[in-house]
Amino acid sequence: MDTRIIERINELKKEKNAVILAHYYCPGEVQALADYVGDSFYLAKTAKETDADIIVFAGVRFMGESAKILNPDKKVLMPDMKADCPMAHMATTEQIAKIREEYPGVAVVCYVNSTAELKCASDVCVTSANAARISGALPNKYIYFIPDQNLGRHIAKTATDKEFIFNDGYCPIHNDLREDELLQTVSEHPEAVVCSHPETRECILRHSDFIGSTSAIIDYVTRSDKKEFIICTEIGIEYELSKNNPGKKFYFAGGRCVCADMKLNTPEAILDVLENENNEVILSGGILQKALVPLERMLELGR
Ligand code: SF4
Repeated sequence: MDTRIIERINELKKEKNAVILAHYYCPGEVQALADYVGDSFYLAKTAKETDADIIVFAGVRFMGESAKILNPDKKVLMPDMKADCPMAHMATTEQIAKIREEYPGVAVVCYVNSTAELKCASDVCVTSANAARISGALPNKYIYFIPDQNLGRHIAKTATDKEFIFNDGYCPIHNDLREDELLQTVSEHPEAVVCSHPETRECILRHSDFIGSTSAIIDYVTRSDKKEFIICTEIGIEYELSKNNPGKKFYFAGGRCVCADMKLNTPEAILDVLENENNEVILSGGILQKALVPLERMLELGR
């Protein structure tokens, strides 16, 4: 990577009191230059706690929106405004209203991978790291889980006293992983431990030794005394896995779990937004207020 870009980024960060947050699915060079790297929950918490004036959020649109909702007085900049998560749009407020009518007392549990508009219509937000715990702790009998059906079906297995209503959204990247690809990788590396993200389908999860969020997979692998792992999630996680575990080997089933939106976050794009302060996340006052309620509830319940 061009060291002049890094130097200029560091100068601007100091000059403007800016901080860079990056998701584990961003390119490795972006993770290397960020001040904080993590999954959605960690980054949301960090965004809320920072005293920086500018937050540059290397992630996708819903993450920048969450940072803005939690910090309405700060400037939140996205390196590339086109970086969006298709799953975030895979539910509608009309569907939510219909379910609320059909199931009085239902809790609408919204995965943070969702638009600010969907958060406004929900009761609580969750991430893949805390979805099971928060859903299980709710007093409601019925839970409408949006937008990811795969994560919803996975957590429903543990919250057995609840009745779940599923939505039909999914992450196109994780959902694309096929059972035959995983089994092929397992046959090539029979000693490897299979670690999967709950956004993958049941046909992947049933062959997995460990199921967890990106940060949970990193923790699990780092603590494990095994040497080989088959990873069923986005390939960007390899940067942190390799950094923390130099002696271990990682194989990616199918070899194509790549989120093109996350890869739009580049050092050049970060430098550009820091220089020009463009690509600011702007949300209306009404959205900021309404969407804050389920997000704050998540931070409180997820502690
Ligand atoms: S990996 Fe999937 S859920 Fe994550 S941002 Fe990309 S499309 Fe959205």
